[in-house]
Amino acid sequence: MALLEVEDLRVAYGKIEAVKGITFSVEAGEVVTLIGTNGAGKTTTLRTLSGLLKPLTGKITFDGQPLNGVGAHKIVSMGLAHSPEGRRIFPRLSIEENLQLGAFLRKDSDGVTRDIHSAYERFPILGERRKQAAGTLSGGEQQMLAMGRALMSQPKLLMLDEPSMGLSPIMMQKIMSTISELKAQGTTILLVEQNAQAALALADHGHVMEIGTISLSGTGEELLHDESVRKAYLGED
Ligand code: ATP
Repeated sequence: MALLEVEDLRVAYGKIEAVKGITFSVEAGEVVTLIGTNGAGKTTTLRTLSGLLKPLTGKITFDGQPLNGVGAHKIVSMGLAHSPEGRRIFPRLSIEENLQLGAFLRKDSDGVTRDIHSAYERFPILGERRKQAAGTLSGGEQQMLAMGRALMSQPKLLMLDEPSMGLSPIMMQKIMSTISELKAQGTTILLVEQNAQAALALADHGHVMEIGTISLSGTGEELLHDESVRKAYLGED
């Protein structure tokens, strides 16, 4: 059984059905990406997996346990962490306090301290500025903090929503290479990205979402070379 299994998931906002019956899975150790244009339903999917939205129908199984009806806090404690679209760091709290909040369910304070140090090793800028308000960080640095914070819950699956959004090309490279490093260390990742090229280049599997459905699935490599994907998402004619 895969670490995450999503079967025929449907999610609506009132009468608007944003996700119309999608099925996919994520194996332990994989990077899986959901790509597609704005409004395709990618964020809605992640928010539903996190327990922030209730599905209309469908079955979600994580680490062998059903997630339907499970609260958002419990889902974090089961090992599913979410670095949301727009980062959502706490701008007035310090960088260190933001990281500590990512560990709010953990009781092992020594382990938390160790993992904060690991976050500073991974992202030295966060360590240098750990006492400063997180709102003083640049967009890319805030993204590092959002990822560091999500990792503080020691997730079995890390969900990243648009980590490269609004970043300079250099910062985007840095974030993508961090995702590659996390993958090399065995972290399982579900990645939602507008930047299809970068996401497919590092993903084991990918799914193209179009208006609430999955229109095409394949390995990252297959989708990267698929003609329809190249035309629609990689800006080729
Ligand atoms: P984006 O990259 O813009 O976030 P997305 O693929 O993640 O795109 P969603 O944000 O999941 O797409 O949106 C899917 C659909 O649901 C869109 O039609 C959107 O307008 C609609 N939608 C999203 N959030 C809400 C909401 N809070 N209330 C009503 N409709 C919503």
